[in-house]
Amino acid sequence: MPASSECGAASTVEAAIGLGANLGDPAATLRSAFDALAALPATALVAASPLYRSAAWGREDQPAFVNAVARLRTALAPDALLEALLRIETAHGRVRADDPAQRWGPRLLDLDLLLYGDARIDTTRLRVPHPHLHQRAFALRPLLDVWPDASIPGIGPARGLLPAIDDGGVVRLQEGGPGGQS
Ligand code: AMP
Repeated sequence: MPASSECGAASTVEAAIGLGANLGDPAATLRSAFDALAALPATALVAASPLYRSAAWGREDQPAFVNAVARLRTALAPDALLEALLRIETAHGRVRADDPAQRWGPRLLDLDLLLYGDARIDTTRLRVPHPHLHQRAFALRPLLDVWPDASIPGIGPARGLLPAIDDGGVVRLQEGGPGGQS
């Protein structure tokens, strides 16, 4: 079921990408990242979610995040799509921290491959569905905006998960509204 990386007759699959930023102008960064995703080869941006402001996850001594989800249709294979995400992060100034203490630290742009069709992938480089997707309201809420019937392989329909999760810190931003800095 992984798609070929060729255009034309290649099979395609729908994928969900989680976007997050909490430095600089996070809303502008996410809008730029949506443009970069739409420009990927063999890929179409099916829908871009609204932006959400959420309290920092993992480490709370940092600015709030702005999060969103992109729904793509792509002929890129999962590893090629991951490579493309890492390139977009780098193009937006992300410096990857080797220090584990910085794992959930501030970042200009974080892109996660949340879903790749109904694929389950567990390699050293890539885990899909994203292992924390089902626990994170800041990913589930925008996912459901763009993909209401999304199903998380091994877990079930995404729609059923939100009620059990505390999403009190996840607030939808108004168009053209604040950029999410606290
Ligand atoms: P992070 O610092 O949390 O953004 O982690 C990035 C690294 O996680 C990447 O270099 C990937 O190799 C790895 N990774 C594993 N699964 C995923 C996924 N589903 N989406 C994005 N990165 C992933």
